[in-house]
Amino acid sequence: MKAVFLKKFKEMPEIVEFEPDWSLGPGEVLLEIEMSGLCYRDLLTIDGHFPRTKLPIILGHEIAGKVIAINETVTNFEPGDRVASLTYIPCGKCRYCKSGNENLCKQRLVFGEDINGSFAQMIKVHEGSLVKIPDKVTAEGATIASCITGMVLRAFRHVAGVKQGEFVLITGAGGGVGIHVIQVAKALGCKVIAATSSEEKFRYIIDAGVDEVLLFDDKIVEKVKSLTGGEGVKVVLEVVSQPTFDKSLRCLAWGGRIVMVGSVTVSSVKVPLGLIILKANSIAGTIAATRKDLEDALRLTVEGKVRPVVTAYPLEKIHETIEKMRRKGSVGRILLKP
Ligand SMILES: [Zn+2]
Ligand SMILES: [Zn+2]
Repeated sequence: MKAVFLKKFKEMPEIVEFEPDWSLGPGEVLLEIEMSGLCYRDLLTIDGHFPRTKLPIILGHEIAGKVIAINETVTNFEPGDRVASLTYIPCGKCRYCKSGNENLCKQRLVFGEDINGSFAQMIKVHEGSLVKIPDKVTAEGATIASCITGMVLRAFRHVAGVKQGEFVLITGAGGGVGIHVIQVAKALGCKVIAATSSEEKFRYIIDAGVDEVLLFDDKIVEKVKSLTGGEGVKVVLEVVSQPTFDKSLRCLAWGGRIVMVGSVTVSSVKVPLGLIILKANSIAGTIAATRKDLEDALRLTVEGKVRPVVTAYPLEKIHETIEKMRRKGSVGRILLKP
């Protein structure tokens, strides 16, 4: 089969012919990949920011596919099932896995870093990573449900504890993640202020159903305060992180929470601790979705509350799509079809 291998950090991945061992161990399932998402994390992996990545490796962790074979121990899936996968295989045994918080499993194996990923025609996964795709959801809709909308649901519900009617600010709103964050926030009944660095993306952000769209510039704090009656927002969902963090923090209301869900750099920031104490603010991070989040995210797509904003390219266009993502030249999520 064709597969996109990263052989060396800081070098472009290569498409190569690869004949893997498809024998299936206990709980394992073989999938034919329908669609895969290109994620900023793939770029960070290529750039060497996840140095424990086991090179050479097939990249890709946002997976929608069809079951073509199962090990005889697999109980929940059969050939022909359409499935979406978590971005990792949880161990299934630790206290996090047993309590439904498998996104925190320390033994989890991440696709495209610890084990071969989905920029290929087929992939071997464990049934513990999979959920069935409802009939009404396309492969495009399923591909964004783990690393984007499922992860964002976790951030809003479990980490931010957002309530209906609360103001939220979303940074990087014009990107492939941000545009879907808006949809999830609206589905949860929030009042959504979206911020972007590009006025050209306003139209497209408004189409996603946002309440207000702002240019993220030096005036952002004043603009957010004036839209929220001087209070600030209860929750910021940070998709950008280091470049926007300081101003985002200052957009928070008293008792507000900032949740980091994505980062375009690995740089650090200065944190004004006094301000955080005075305003009783919280800073939190969150990682990945659980199977429950993934199921709930797929349900939002069935209900039409999440509408995938994606552009699909053939897998052969991997170099072109990586460059496009680096230039922020894409609208919505870039998907790759084998
Ligand atoms: Zn991802
Ligand atoms: Zn575990």
